[in-house]
Parts: sequence; structure tokens; C-alpha cells
Amino acid sequence: QKPVPSDIVISRSCVPKPIDCMAREVGLLSDEVELYGKTKAKVQLSIMKRLQAQPDGKYVVVTGITPTPLGEGKSTTTIGLVQALGAHLKLNVFACVRQPSQGPTFGIKGGAAGGGYSQVIPMEEFNLHLTGDIHAITAANNLVAAAIDARIFHENTQTDKALYNRLVPINGGQRQFSPIQINRLKKLGIEKTDPNTLTDEEVTRFARLDMNPEAVTWQRVLDTNDRFLRKITIGQSPTEKGFTREAQFDITVASEIMAVLALTSSLADMRQRLANMVVATSKSGQPITTEDLGVSGALAVLMRDAIKPNLMQTLEGTPVFVHAGPFANIAHGNSSILADKIALKLVGPEGFVVTEAGFGADIGMEKFFNIKCRYSGLRPHVVVLVATVRALKMHGGGPKVTAGMPLPKEYVEENLELLETGCGNMKKQIENARLFGVPVVVAVNAFKTDTQAELELICSVANAAGAFDAVRCSHWAEGGAGAVALGQAVQRASESPSDFKFLYDVELPIADKIRIIAQKIYGADDIELLPEAQRKVELYTKQGFGNLPICMAKTHLSLSHDADKKGVPTGFVVPVRDIKASVGAGFLFPLVGTMPTIPGLPTRPCFYDIDLDPETEQVNGLF
Ligand code: ADP
Repeated sequence: QKPVPSDIVISRSCVPKPIDCMAREVGLLSDEVELYGKTKAKVQLSIMKRLQAQPDGKYVVVTGITPTPLGEGKSTTTIGLVQALGAHLKLNVFACVRQPSQGPTFGIKGGAAGGGYSQVIPMEEFNLHLTGDIHAITAANNLVAAAIDARIFHENTQTDKALYNRLVPINGGQRQFSPIQINRLKKLGIEKTDPNTLTDEEVTRFARLDMNPEAVTWQRVLDTNDRFLRKITIGQSPTEKGFTREAQFDITVASEIMAVLALTSSLADMRQRLANMVVATSKSGQPITTEDLGVSGALAVLMRDAIKPNLMQTLEGTPVFVHAGPFANIAHGNSSILADKIALKLVGPEGFVVTEAGFGADIGMEKFFNIKCRYSGLRPHVVVLVATVRALKMHGGGPKVTAGMPLPKEYVEENLELLETGCGNMKKQIENARLFGVPVVVAVNAFKTDTQAELELICSVANAAGAFDAVRCSHWAEGGAGAVALGQAVQRASESPSDFKFLYDVELPIADKIRIIAQKIYGADDIELLPEAQRKVELYTKQGFGNLPICMAKTHLSLSHDADKKGVPTGFVVPVRDIKASVGAGFLFPLVGTMPTIPGLPTRPCFYDIDLDPETEQVNGLF
């Protein structure tokens, strides 16, 4: 076998089709496409209306076994599979993938455009600014943060009347409410539109949000792995008159606005979700939204372009939508509903849309079904579960790996015993997918050091465990040609009967929904709601948020809550420390353990290798 060059070398060796040609090829009209240079374009949402009557294509979700530091190749398989279906089996296809955060690109993980001969190109565009959607989210998120602290400051330094007069200024000779302020009045039950007729009591209620600074849940964000911003004190300049408070930065992709972008179905729906975001609680326990702050319209304006999916292509010239990339623990870790919906229309009834869910099947796929599909109304035809020999060996008890050190021999030499034990994890994840009634095709992503016997063992275990089929693939080394058998298996599976069902009814009490996920998907004996979580169950139920779906924030490295427990842990109780709400995006997220919401940089971050060649303007060292 020829050695496979680095990702950036492969990416650069291929000249992408001009993106306007790609847009025409997939059936987009020129006025539906906004070009961003030669290799990227945004697609306008008006297409949804034009293709309303067109039947959808087949919908495939790619997920994986429980991740390990060895990498399983879900993105690589997503791209390899569409290259096989599109460029080799000549079907209409679309891949829908997440936009990566720049945190990992410069930190530990590197890029996320797939790898080897299965990539989205140009990978430097994909991994860096793309069309600025993440920057738009940073801007919108931080506008909310600024609005919160400024409002607390102004409310605390002005009388009710002065505050009211500034909030409702004289304009053209008279005071006037803005449309957002009229919404707030309605919410307060004040049926008045003339600002001069409010009673003193109404003036106070209208003007004072009375946010409890201790109960602000909205954080500032930045798309950089800057661990020293995990806890900060804001307001230290004398101009803020002592209104300091402890706050934190999260990574931008952890912003609720990213989750809103991923789950929205239209501009009007996004505007409403952005307005519904709860950012704090008032001193009397009322939820305060961005609409109360008057900032929701401005957020929609900042997000106006970000809502349009980004068109790119694979190494083999098949189309890709890159759109949204919410965190996969405190959010749902799936690309956007809008991209999937538009792609399903564009490929037509015989075509395939392959979308990717983050982390393992217990997290990304569970959330794909219970959150994303619930909001989109879409029903998947096939689950592709990615497994690798090396990762399954780690689940079978293989040694830990250390960054920068050679892999232990267990991972590079045949070891059927370790592998067979580790296959338990794959079996459990197949069962998890089957709980939703969708056929599962296992994609065994082959590495150079895997032996025939090892690859065959995984396939036979998968078939015995109820997979529709299990196929070895070599798309990393060979591109789409290496995933043709996988493509054919997916085609066959998409024709087999599927009987999709959700795991739980959203109307169930919060604790019951969490328990169902923990017992059925993780294999836990039970859950334990710690006091703060119990308090939140009561609070959210009272506030009317009890019927939202659940988005578990649990380690992705184990089926249990303990990252060190590999394979199929049993006999454990999942401790739920706290529960938080993303009301605008539309889910509650129980925290199991502590989740860093902004990663740190390692000793030797990826940025050491990244540089620009000033002669050619080429980016070097991304992977
Ligand atoms: P995931 O989406 O599961 O996180 P990726 O598809 O991003 O995984 O792959 C992780 C890394 O592993 C990438 O650098 C990719 O190039 C590499 N990789 C994936 N499959 C293979 C393979 N079969 N052989 C060698 N490297 C691979």
C-alpha cells in the first residue's frame, strides 16, 4: 500500500470545482446562492419554499462506539460514505457536517474535515473562519452578556422614573414603546400602548428586571481554548462603581445561540428561539429572557446570515453542507436541521443525505433522535455505527495511550481476545440504536495495522448483535472507492422496514426522562438527583419548562459517568449534580460530573505546526 500523505497535502493536491458550478449541479438557482469566494457559498432559505413539494431523500445518521483517545473516524466515514454513494454509485448525495470550533483546531484535536482521502475541501477554509458563522455567534452572545451587566448596573444606579424615562425616551415629541417593549408589557399583563398612562407601580415593574446577579446563567464566549477565562471577575474598573461579580467564559460553540442555530427551522422560528433564551432569574424567581432585555431583535440581525447553510465539497466533488456545531455535552452536538432539510429536498427521493452526530451513540445519536428529530420531524432510515479495531481493544481493557508516545503493541499487533472483549461496547451501542427502531449498519474503519482476522471478528460480532450488516471500509486510505460496500449496505438498509420511535415522551416528569436515558442507553441501575438538581427540577417544573427534551451532559468516554470505565459498565447509579436550561434552544441539560465549557491548551498545541507560506499564501501544518 502507498503511504497516505498528510490531510493538508491531500486537500491541497485537489483543485475544487468552482462553488457556483457545484451549486448548479445540485440544482440551486443562481439567486438562491451567495458566493463567499470560490470554494464556499451560502444557500438562501427561500429554497425551502421552492422545493416544498419535492419528496425527501433517504436520511442516514453516522455515529460511533464510545470514543477513545485513539479516534474512531466518524467524520472521515461520513465523507467517505457520501463519496462512495455519490462519486462511485452515482446517486444524488449530500453530507451534512458540523463546523468545527477553532479551539480544537489550534489545541489538541486538530481539524475536523475528515481525513486521508475522505475530506471536505479546502480544509483550511473549513477549519478556520468558514463564512463567519461562529464569529456571528460570538458577537451575538457577547451582546447579550454586555446587556445583562449594563442593565444590572443601570437599575442599581438610577431611580425607577429615571430608568423608565431612558428606556422609553421622547422621540419626535412623545414617548414611544418599541415593538420589543410592547411584547414585554404584554408578558407583564399590562395592556397599554401609551407610555404616559402607566401607573407608578407599572413603571417600576416594566423598568426593573431586578436580575439577581448571583443567578445570571448567561456567560461570555470566545472561540479559543483560553483556560484562564474559566473563572473571572468582571467590573473591576472604577467606572463600574464596585459592581463586580464572578463570571466565566465558555467556548463559542457552547453558547446557547449555537444550539438555537442548529435546531431552528426558519428565520421566524430563530427569532422566537433567540427571544425565549433565559439568561437570568429575577430576585423574585422569574425567568429573564433576552426579549426582556430588549436585545432579541438585534440578535436575529446578527444571526441573519449565519442561518443560511454553507455549501462546500468533498475531495471527490460531492456536495457538503457545513452548518452549526454545538457542543456535544452541554448541547446536542449535531449539525443543523435546516441543512439536513434543504439537502433532503435537493437530493430527491432516490438520493441520500448523510448527517453526523457527535461523540458515541449513547450521546450524539441519542440526542439526534430525541432532540433533533423531535424538532425537525425528520425520520432517519439508517444508522451507520463506526467502529475501529484499536478503539474496541481499548474497551476490551487495552492500555492507556500517552500523547507524543508510540502506541502500545496491543493496538498495532493482532490481539483477538482483547478485541472480542471490547466488542461488548459495540454490541451495546447497536442495541441503543435499535431501541429507536432504525436499522444499523456497522462501518469498520480499517487502520493499516488491523489484521483480516480482527476485521472479520468485528463484522461477525456486529451481525450477531442485530446489525443489519457490518462492512469493512478503507475510505481513509482509498477515498470513496474504499466505502462502496458500505454505501451498498446503506442502500439496502434504507429499503428495509424501519419503525422509528422516541425513547421517551417529553410530557413525562423531568426525573423520569433522565432515568429512562440512564437505564436504557447507559445501562445504569438508576439515577441520583443531588440537592441542586432536585431544586432545579422543582424550579423548571414551576416555570413551565418541565416538558422540554433532555440533553445529558455526561462524559463521552464511557457509557457510564466515569470516563475510566471502558467497555460496558454495569452496576452504577448516575449522579445528576445540577440541571440547567437552554429554553430558547429547547432542552434541559442535566450535568453529570463537571463539564469544562472551555477547553485548555496542551503543552504542545497544534498551533506549533501551523504556518503561512508568504510566497504561495498557503496554510501549512493543519491536520
Ligand atoms: P471523529 O469524527 O470520530 O472524531 P475523525 O474522522 O475526525 O474522527 O478522525 C480522527 C482522526 O483519525 C483524523 O485525523 C483522521 O484523519 C484519522 N483517521 C480516521 N480514520 C483513519 C484510518 N482508517 N486510518 C488512519 N487514520 C484515520
